[in-house]
Amino acid sequence: MTEGYIDTYYRRTLVGHPPYPSVEESIQADICIIGGGLAGLSTAHECQQRGLKVVVLEQRRIAWGASGRNGGFVTAGYATGEGQIARRAGLAGAKALHDLSVEGVRIVRENIDRLDLPRVNPTPGVLRAIRYDDAAGLQAEVAEAKRRFGTTLHYLTRAEVQEKLHSEAYFQGIYAPDAFHFHPLNYALGLAAEIAKRGGQVFEQTAARAITRKAGGFTITTENGKIEAEHVVLCGGGYTDRLVPALHRAYLPIATYMLLTEPIVEIEKSIDTPAAIADDRRAGDYYRVVDGNRILWGGCITTSTRDPGDLAEIMRHRVVATYPQLGSLKVAAAWSGLMSYARHLMPQIGRTADGLWYATGFGGHGMNTTAIAGRVVAEAIKGESDRIKLYAPFGLDWNGGPFGRIAVQATYWYLQAMDAWRERGAHKTDARP
Ligand SMILES: Cc1cc2nc3c(=O)[nH]c(=O)nc-3n(C[C@H](O)[C@H](O)[C@H](O)COP(=O)(O)OP(=O)(O)OC[C@H]3O[C@@H](n4cnc5c(N)ncnc54)[C@H](O)[C@@H]3O)c2cc1C
Repeated sequence: MTEGYIDTYYRRTLVGHPPYPSVEESIQADICIIGGGLAGLSTAHECQQRGLKVVVLEQRRIAWGASGRNGGFVTAGYATGEGQIARRAGLAGAKALHDLSVEGVRIVRENIDRLDLPRVNPTPGVLRAIRYDDAAGLQAEVAEAKRRFGTTLHYLTRAEVQEKLHSEAYFQGIYAPDAFHFHPLNYALGLAAEIAKRGGQVFEQTAARAITRKAGGFTITTENGKIEAEHVVLCGGGYTDRLVPALHRAYLPIATYMLLTEPIVEIEKSIDTPAAIADDRRAGDYYRVVDGNRILWGGCITTSTRDPGDLAEIMRHRVVATYPQLGSLKVAAAWSGLMSYARHLMPQIGRTADGLWYATGFGGHGMNTTAIAGRVVAEAIKGESDRIKLYAPFGLDWNGGPFGRIAVQATYWYLQAMDAWRERGAHKTDARP
């Protein structure tokens, strides 16, 4: 049952479910969705709720990609900040997009409850702790979030942060009570089961190989069959292939890494909070306690899509650098996943000139954004709303080819150096509140 999934914490704890078949015939549907990650499943679920007959094609297993390997943080916002968003979308557009991102968090939370999804374990709270001294900056951020978006965030002093995180690395923090963390693979499997239960067709081990236009829709060819559908939605994320060249040219696959520790005795002497934790470095750490005594730790980003041989050691080093008291920790599993990034760092949600819908480019912020993407695409297909247009300023810009990759990696190294410099300065003065 776990066959085909890479070794992750989530595979080790997934809900039992039978594999889905592959396409072996000719099928008719209203909507064919290509990609069985959370973008594809959310779109299928939203379309099905509107009475449409859906087919989902996944080339491997459901949520085999980023959706089944990630940190499990569900927070409002996008992979880039409001300032950058406002540059293209204007201030009002940025506010409307923020509201959609909040709705995305709500959709996931509501689906878990409404569908009674098993072993998804939603747990409230995300704590962002900074690694330099800036009490005034964080307090201003809390006030601004309230003023601009009506969001309730709680400022934490250094002493309050260090009651929860026993590490000298941290200074002040912000606690987001409306954010949560969960088991993304079990969530995805639950959504797929719901789609199948309500008459949708979910296929695994079925890659879409070609798409051709025909009167009244499209034909999607797979190895042993085909699907005829009025609409096609492309949701390949960081695994998007050359099926639709305009999409392939418009994103960069960016890898990021995760680690699961073996059980840790007296873990509360290091991490003493049920909240998930992140810092604010460009490719900072994000982690949480799972099963009461293990740490699930994420970090690093790179344009290299091949795993380093010492991935586990790289990640282990990151944990111990923050919590030296965990020097003897043992690694249970370490893995990577690919995210899809557009140059503008925003999701790409829209329709090509050929009439193909797409929902991709969710970067490292896909748990809420895939949910709202599914909803706005379904609304657009049914003609219920044109909220999808809010994403129009963030189109399929060229990714820059090989130069794009070099530029991203160089920018990352530069920002990493800036983060390190800021931290070193902070620890030299080590001003405590
Ligand atoms: C290690 C890691 C940690 C992360 N942590 C977080 C986090 O804590 N919070 C957060 O919000 N986001 C996080 N993210 C980002 C988030 O996981 C992604 O943005 C999100 O899962 C993207 O969903 P998706 O459906 O677009 O892509 P995916 O989940 O990658 O799904 C795409 C699917 O399409 C399939 N596919 C591609 N081409 C074809 C084809 N031709 N035919 C059939 N199938 C095809 C692939 O096999 C794949 O399963 C993380 C990502 C990674 C990798």
